[in-house]
This record gives sequence, structure tokens and C-alpha cells, in this order.
Amino acid sequence: MASDEDIVTLFSKFGFGDAKSKEIIKNKKVSQQLYEILGDDLSSFSGELEPKKLALLHQLAIDLKGSENVSSSLRQLLTDAILDERIKSTLQVQEGVKYLKSTQSPTESELNTHAGVGQEVSEEQVHSTISKYFDSIMDELQAKRYTMVPSILGQLRKLTELKWASPALFKPIVDSLALKHLGPKDERDVIKKVKKTPAKASAPDANKKDSSATKVDAPVETERSMFSEGFLGDLHKPGENPQMWPELMDEHLKFTHRQVFTRFPPEPNGFLHIGHSKAIMVNFGYAAFNKGNCYLRFDDTNPEAEEEVYFKSIEDMVSWLGYSPWKITYSSDYFQELYDLAEKLIECDRGYVCHCTPEQVKEQRGMKADGTLGGQRNGCSHRERTPEENLKEFRKMRDGFYKTGEATLRMKQDYTSPNPQMWDLVAYRVLDAPHHRTGDKWKIYPTYDFTHCLVDSFENISHSLCTTEFRLLRESYEWLCDTLHVYRPAQREYGRLNITGTVLSKRKIAKLVTEGYVRGWDDPRLYTLEGIRRRGVPPGAILSFINTLGVTTSTTNIECVRFESAVRSYLDQTTPRLMVVLDPVLVEVDNLGEDETIEVEMPYKPGSNPVTLGPLSGGRTLKFGKYIYIDRSDVRDDDQVSKEYFRLAPGQPVGLMKVPFNISLRLIERDTEGNITKVLVNYDKDIKKKPKTYIQWIPKSDCIKIDEVRVQNALFTLENPKDYLAELNPNSEEIFGNAVIESSFKEIVSRSPMNVEIPGSQFNIKEKPGNNTVRFQALRVGYFCLDKDSNDDKLILNRIVTLKEDSSKK
Ligand code: ATP
Ligand code: MG
Repeated sequence: MASDEDIVTLFSKFGFGDAKSKEIIKNKKVSQQLYEILGDDLSSFSGELEPKKLALLHQLAIDLKGSENVSSSLRQLLTDAILDERIKSTLQVQEGVKYLKSTQSPTESELNTHAGVGQEVSEEQVHSTISKYFDSIMDELQAKRYTMVPSILGQLRKLTELKWASPALFKPIVDSLALKHLGPKDERDVIKKVKKTPAKASAPDANKKDSSATKVDAPVETERSMFSEGFLGDLHKPGENPQMWPELMDEHLKFTHRQVFTRFPPEPNGFLHIGHSKAIMVNFGYAAFNKGNCYLRFDDTNPEAEEEVYFKSIEDMVSWLGYSPWKITYSSDYFQELYDLAEKLIECDRGYVCHCTPEQVKEQRGMKADGTLGGQRNGCSHRERTPEENLKEFRKMRDGFYKTGEATLRMKQDYTSPNPQMWDLVAYRVLDAPHHRTGDKWKIYPTYDFTHCLVDSFENISHSLCTTEFRLLRESYEWLCDTLHVYRPAQREYGRLNITGTVLSKRKIAKLVTEGYVRGWDDPRLYTLEGIRRRGVPPGAILSFINTLGVTTSTTNIECVRFESAVRSYLDQTTPRLMVVLDPVLVEVDNLGEDETIEVEMPYKPGSNPVTLGPLSGGRTLKFGKYIYIDRSDVRDDDQVSKEYFRLAPGQPVGLMKVPFNISLRLIERDTEGNITKVLVNYDKDIKKKPKTYIQWIPKSDCIKIDEVRVQNALFTLENPKDYLAELNPNSEEIFGNAVIESSFKEIVSRSPMNVEIPGSQFNIKEKPGNNTVRFQALRVGYFCLDKDSNDDKLILNRIVTLKEDSSKK
């Protein structure tokens, strides 16, 4: 038996790092086996091996440990295949070992067959095989729809054509084909649960055909969950993501205890928008659903664009949406570790300092004069520098010897790869800018491509969930983790959420703000999360809405009106009703005495069961008397009163909500300019006649004046604003300065946030108090909330949404 010291010495001769050797040594059998492989099979080899080969030899040792029947001469067959790159993957090593163990007299050619040498399957081939498979099961697929997807994945693994294909390719292809053949998921794909009613204690009623004791309720549609189906439902379990260095998984699992770990990684260079709420939900929600943890990680590697307000706002928005980060971290927390790994990258000859201009780099990457790729690709001369020289140059970068643009650290990846994200990406750039957290300590900053995967690794992320534009970066993500021999998290990509009918780009919104078209980044007409919150949209409405859309790998494009309609139905279930008159005229009831009043009861929400109404139960008493306000638009006396006009007009009485009898018009008083100043009516006491409609009203003696009601409409006139400044809606904000509201509004203010729960919803968020949580339905007018500008001296309301979809288009 070799001593640990001998083993480490030999390992390092072949290129295993110290830390790595120490880890391997922890397993006596494996390290002994690897020692023999290196010592015997590679006795004629000198120098260091590439990390990938080291990993495969390590895998070989793991698979061979304790199998005495494989002699060293047989083993040599496999070692040679690894060295000359016939064998390139873990799966191949495993299959090769299986073959050796199964036979007394192996041959090289049979080994090649069993280990799939030369059997690489391209992505196109995988695609075409899966397409054909879909064609062969089309009838069953149409019948079973999405429930078939898991079994399809299982079957694909058994297909001989796909044996040597990377299984990671299957899922996205299957998803896109399912979508192509079945269309998006719909009600047919809802998983229905049958809920059993507990047997009743009372004796079954003999007269009824069904006895209630055995009756089963009609199927209850449970709320679909984006976390248990679709893209998120199909994700791997912690610990199942493949590793180039399998032993790193143990360490990872020791930290995570097999819990899900995710992160939401915004760049603190702007305010979040509605699309980000999907990312927040995907990351925080998936972790919570699986009883795991999610970091809020500020990706602050770009000091020039970062500002304090963004950090604060992002944190606020996450909390507003009902999530609490497990930890708040910053990429800059890891600048030193990242720097050390950059040196390590150089030491293993996988990083080099490059002085090429952006134009030269483009040319090296095969960019042609017309800006398209596809030309000849060549690495530059800097690529040939020795690690020693690179280290010296990199330290010069660090020490401020170079100005921005004069030098970068690039990863030595693979120019022959078809993937442009493998063409020697930049890892570090010179930037002499102070950083809000590290001050002027650094003159070089790591790029996203270098930082993201490594910080995911440091933080033991089990699922690094990002949007599909990062798909091609996955290869580089894994390459860097593997090359640096750190735990490799699994990056998986889902489709973005886009809202149409508005603009989301930071640059465009900034222009609207700085040029004064809107009230700020949190203007209720914008789809920034700050704006949506100020507008009064409840966070639960956003989450429920995104949940109904589900998560797939395709982009979801949604019109604002669809979002609004989801908000409307959420508000319908969760808000009290009040009466507001936007444009009041005074009504004098002729036949009521000055002090005569009729008390009417109004519940805050229709329905009588206090259990289901929860915080919305109860109501108030209103006093109908001689003077009330109604809306100017609810009375007319012009000749053209049309047949569709149901409200107050000569010869046409109208009902006042909850008031026992109608009022009928007697006289309209006007000022010299023709504006209505007062309406005289009769209270049609004791005349039972159903009016054509009812209108809202407010007692003059008991009302509150609203300083400003802001009725927000669509910000743009077109569904897809392109020339967006020219397409601004001139009436996107109408202001009413005379509106009145009934005095019970005060009670609603004091009862807010009401935190009304929707039965069966996963998204009943307890909100913290704030103006935006004072929400109500103004009968016949719309849903409103208190604006953030509102205070004890000035009452200001925002319209959250209209009552009906079409009323905004009037
Ligand atoms: P972009 O990448 O479009 O520039 P951004 O810079 O505004 O977005 P980041 O701070 O990079 O925002 O975003 C943080 C996270 O939110 C990222 O994981 C990103 O993929 C995700 N994200 C951004 N926009 C959307 C969207 N429209 N739908 C879903 N997720 C999104
Ligand atoms: Mg970004």
C-alpha cells in the first residue's frame, strides 16, 4: 500500500491540485486504485494531463475500486482510450468498465463498441430522433396530452439511437415538440382532485336516492401550481445534477442537506418591472414550495451603473411580493475568491491576458464585414502566452498598470466549438471606478460570465434558474466550474414574461420620467413593480396571475388588458364596496323636510356569511335626506336622451342604491354658462315601480371631499408602441378635483390592510400597512386605492382598474 504522501506526490505530478488530491485521498480504495492507474498504466507518460482527462481517470478509479477481476493489463485498454480521447464522458467510462468486468478476453474493438467510441450524437440528430418518436406515438399523445411527457422522457432513454446522446438535451426538445403538437396547456391539462366529504354523523335520509354518507363531492378544481408542473415540476431533485467531479457533490449536499437552493440575482442598475416578478416567483417560490432557501443576490459587478436606490427598491419589491430572502448577498462579497480563481485559471493554462481591440476580437470570432458570424475563427497570439507570463500580466492589470480596454483576462475555451459562447469569453476587465461596497480596492472587475456560475457554486445553488437568452451560456458556465474544479450548479432556462401595450426597457422609461411624461419611476401607468404597487395592485393578484400562466421554456407575451382583467377579478373578491361620486351635482329632494332622513343599511360586500366574508363582513348605515350628491353624468334633460340612457331624465325616474323608492326629476338649475348647479327631484315615496337602473349617491351631510382622483388610462394609444413618445395617450391620466366619497371611507382606511384571503389560494400574502393597501370598489365607477402622495391634509386616489374591460375603451 502506498503512503498518503506518495499518493499525493504522484497525483500532483499528473496535475491534480492539492485540494483535489486531499479529497480523493479521503476514499482509500479509490485513491489506491487511481495511484495504480497513474503509476502503472501511465508509467511512460510525463507531464500534466488536462483536467477533463484527470476527471475521467478519477471516474475510472471510482468504477473499478474493489474489482479484483480486472487486471491491470485489461485496465490499460481503458486508460489508453481516455488518453487518446476515444473516451470522453463519464457514461463512456462506466460502460467501458461494465464491459471489462463482463468478459475474460476483451478486445479493443469490442471495448470501442461497448463504450460508444465515435458514437457522438449531435443536437440535430437528437432532435430528429425525438421528432420521429413523437410521430410514432401521436394518437396516444393527443389523447393523454401533457400527462404523457414524463413517460416519453423515460422511453427516450431506452432508445438505442440516443444511448450516447446527452440526456440534458432531451427535455427542452420534448417540451418544444409537445407545445408544437398540443398547443399551450389548457383546461384539459388541469389536474383534478376528487375531494371526499367526511361521512356525516346524522343518519342518512332514507327518502333521498343518494345517501349523503357515501356521496362524493363534485370534483373540486384545485388551483394549478406552476411549481409542481411544467418547467419547474420537471426539474431535477437536489443532488441529481451531473458533476464532472462527482466527489464535489458530497460536499455540496453536506451544506444543503438536499434542500433546494436558488437565488434571484438582479443587477442593481434599475427598477424591477413586471417581468422580474416572474423571476422572483420562480426563484423564491420554487424554493419555498420545496421547503428550500432562496438568496437575494445583488449582481454588483458593474460599479458604474449601480445606485443605492435600486438596492433598496429591489429589496422592497421582493418583500412586497411576500418573500423573504434566506440571505442577502452581493457578488462583490466574493471579489477576492473570484480573483484567486482567476489566478488558478491562469495557472492551469486556461486563462490568458489579451490586448486585442474589440474589432480584433470580433474578427477572431469569425465576424464578417457585414456583421454576421461564420468566417474563419482564430485565436490571437496572446493565447500562446505561458501561464507565468499571463500571471504577471494579470497582476499588472490588477495593480492599475493598464487602462480600460488595454487588457482583459480571457478564458481559453474552444474556438472550434459551434457555440459562440465558448469563444474565449472575457473574464476580467480593467475599470478604474470606485465600487459602492469595495471602494477603490479593485481596478479590475469580473464579468457576468466569470462571476455568475462561480458565485452560484460558492453559494451551493441547486437550481440556477434564468431566462432562455442564457441557454448558450450554459456550456461556458459548466466549463468554468469544471475547469476550476468547483461544484457545478445546474443552470436551467425558462421563458421570459413580456407585457405588451407598454414599454419595459429601462432606457425608454427613463426618458418618460426625465422628460416629465409620467410622475416618476413609480407612476401607476408604468409596469415597473414600484408603479404597479403604487397603483394599488395587490401582490397576491400578480402571483396568482403568473401562476395561471405557468412556466415553460417559451416566452409568454401578455397584453396589459389581460393582466388588468386578472387584477379585476382578484379585487372583486377582496375589496369592500363604497360609493364615490366623481363629478358631483347637488340634488335637493323637494318633498323631504330639512331634518327628515331615511336610514339605509349597506353591507361592505354582498353576501351574508361572515365566515366567508372574513374582514369584509359588516356594513354601515347611510342617511338619505334632503340633500345628496349624484354624478353629473347621471342626469340629463337634453332632447336627445337616447333609448339606451337609463338614468335620471325628464319622465324617467331612477333608483338610488339601497334607497326604498325612486327619485324623479322636477327641475334642473343652471348658471349663466349653462352648467348644472342643482337638481330638484321628488322622492316617489310609496310608489312601487322598478327603475331602469340604480345610481350611486352620497349624503351631503356625511361626505368627505377628495382633493384629487386620478383616473389612469392606458399610457399608449397603440397595442405595441414603437415610436413610443409619439404614441403617448394624451388622456392617460384624468384628474377629478371635486369628487366626494361617503364618510365610511374612514373606517375602511382604519381596517386596511384587510388582507382578505381567497379560499384555496396559495398566494394569500399578508401585506404591511401602506396607502396602496387601502383599496375598495367604488360602485359603478371602478377599483381605487390611496395614492402614495395622499396624507392627512390631502386626499388622493388612484384608479387601479375599471370595473369592466370595455369601459376603458369607451
Ligand atoms: P435583462 O437581462 O433583460 O437586461 P435586467 O437587466 O432588467 O434584465 P436583471 O437584473 O438581469 O434584469 O434580472 C434579474 C433576473 O430577472 C434575471 O435572472 C433575469 O433573467 C430575470 N428577468 C429579467 N427580465 C425578465 C422577464 N421579462 N421575465 C422573466 N424574468 C426576467
Ligand atoms: Mg441583465
